[in-house]
Amino acid sequence: MTDSIFTKIINGQIPGKFAYQDEKVVAIHDIAPGAPVHILIIPRDPAIVNANDLTPENADIIAHMFLVAKQLAAENGLTERGYRLVMNNNAESGQSVYHMHLHLLGGRALGWPPG
Ligand code: AMP
Repeated sequence: MTDSIFTKIINGQIPGKFAYQDEKVVAIHDIAPGAPVHILIIPRDPAIVNANDLTPENADIIAHMFLVAKQLAAENGLTERGYRLVMNNNAESGQSVYHMHLHLLGGRALGWPPG
């Protein structure tokens, strides 16, 4: 299977603007930001394509992704202002990269429901 664009960024094959890295996840600034703060939290392991692949055995990564997102929200001054954490899953959601990732969006008032 071809590597996803996120795997290529993680491996240094294409550039990415990293906001955070640890042994399990990386966080990069979205190349087409939808808000003043738009960061993607991405597991290094590409095996989980989206929430449909989660199981009781692999779901720990979700808690870790949310903890990293909370930390990045704080670092960007969003804790009290508010921010959104969202994951797109398959075509009708608008998922375009099939390597699981959590969007952290903030820095402006966000509309609801999303489009
Ligand atoms: P989704 O549509 O939920 O799959 O989100 C994929 C996100 O990846 C989109 O918001 C894109 O703007 C973003 N994206 C695509 N290519 C890159 C890249 N090379 N660097 C950073 N973000 C990217």
